[in-house]
Amino acid sequence: MSKQRITVAKGDGIGPEIMDATLKVIMAAGAQIEIDEIEVGEKVYLSGNTSGIAKESWDIIRRNKVFLKAPITTPQGGGYKSLNVTTRKFLGLYANVRPCMSFHPFVKTKHPDMDVVIIRENEEDLYAGIEHQQTDEVVQCLKLISRPGCEKIVRYAFEYAKQYGRKKVTCFTKDNIMKQTDGLFHKVFDEIAKEYPEIENEHWIIDIGAAKLADTPEAFDVVVMPNLYGDVLSDVAAQIAGSVGLAGSANIGETCAMFEAIHGSAPRRAGQNVANPTGLLQGAIMMLNHIGQNDVAEKVQNALLKTIEDGIHTYDIFEEGVSKQKVSTSEFADAIISNLGKKPAQLKPVSYAKGSAFNLPKYTPKAPAKKDLVGVDLFVHWPGKNPNELATLIQKLDNENVKLTMITNRGIKVWPDGFEETFCTDHWRCRFKSAKGGTITKQDIVTLLQKSIDFNIDSIKTENLYAFDGVDAFSMGQGQ
Ligand code: NAD
Repeated sequence: MSKQRITVAKGDGIGPEIMDATLKVIMAAGAQIEIDEIEVGEKVYLSGNTSGIAKESWDIIRRNKVFLKAPITTPQGGGYKSLNVTTRKFLGLYANVRPCMSFHPFVKTKHPDMDVVIIRENEEDLYAGIEHQQTDEVVQCLKLISRPGCEKIVRYAFEYAKQYGRKKVTCFTKDNIMKQTDGLFHKVFDEIAKEYPEIENEHWIIDIGAAKLADTPEAFDVVVMPNLYGDVLSDVAAQIAGSVGLAGSANIGETCAMFEAIHGSAPRRAGQNVANPTGLLQGAIMMLNHIGQNDVAEKVQNALLKTIEDGIHTYDIFEEGVSKQKVSTSEFADAIISNLGKKPAQLKPVSYAKGSAFNLPKYTPKAPAKKDLVGVDLFVHWPGKNPNELATLIQKLDNENVKLTMITNRGIKVWPDGFEETFCTDHWRCRFKSAKGGTITKQDIVTLLQKSIDFNIDSIKTENLYAFDGVDAFSMGQGQ
């Protein structure tokens, strides 16, 4: 087997110790890799580089395409940017994969049968970071969900399930409220699920789904969701498995991938040879699977399970009566090495399909739909409180082509026929539709905006209302 060149960063705090332990184990297991080491993190930040990584290091990461990264310390304050976020976005690492399993009865957990993989979309949603203050009282964050983004992550989840012999993929969204954005995610999930009839699929509304996940995680197998929900729930899942220090994660893109532990650099434990290297080792196992060295991955995973089962534990999971021996970082690594080739007796041994790297098709754009402009939402900053007064003012913008049909405040309809009880801010959405039914033109919008200047109306933005293939593709007012 030809050797795979990978990039390694030993990071900060406990990083170097757990990375040394991890590399020692995978090399002993026969990993066919060559290593280029780069420096990222605290030292680089403090040298004045606010991104925590030098240009030459990017070159190495991009050339090798596979990156094993130990945790780093982000210095407080000072405008330092998160290296993780930058890496994900620059390298297009669209899938965050986090297996969360319990090691009952060897590591304490309330959920002995938990074995869940959270697959989180990693690039879009509210994390596009597009935010604006629009009025004295209101700020907004744009939630962007794209079809290619949904297709890539959902397909990844099904391919993951297929490759690792998992039985079910669950999708979490809030599409009863966000019918366009989460609605698209759910729709794509249903479309792609049909291509995998051998894998069970289901959709849960995120709130009840999350409650169920926290209560009975054994009811789930692979769970796929948009970025924000995945950010929160992947931490919940790791925590309830009883093993934040034991979980690894992968960030997968079309060309590059990054593997790491989910925990941080634990600076208070640094330099003492006590930290648990399992999280990073789990990341390395995912890396070995990713690069097709599945036999090595399997060997390491089973030896790790056997070592935990033998009661050989680092301080963080050591418990009198359960654990047999409290070991250091390096002793733990040596114990795993002596178990290479063995399988656990009580914990479930793993068996990975050999040499089958993922085959993920590139996104093929759909044929463009017929797109009709059917109206416009004009957002205005108006400090008054009575929507009827605002309607009288805004109706001055009506002309023979467009007319005001509705005003909402924070989404709820306040005109016509609003409730006095509804609390209103200074941020109003005024919906204009065609006066004769059918479509409007961009010129109609420009005319509206020109008139809003003439009448001294503080317009803050417009959103075009489109119908795609004859179907309205915008939300109604709540209560409309
Ligand atoms: P942390 O994960 O470093 O530590 C939380 C707790 O868990 C501490 O009590 C720590 O001692 C313990 N712990 C963590 N990993 C352990 C291990 N392998 N073995 C034994 N005990 C372990 O979180 P924190 O204290 O909030 O953050 C410390 C630093 O890490 C911060 O600078 C933060 O920005 C950074 N961080 C980095 C990453 C990353 O690089 N991916 C992720 C999270 C936090």
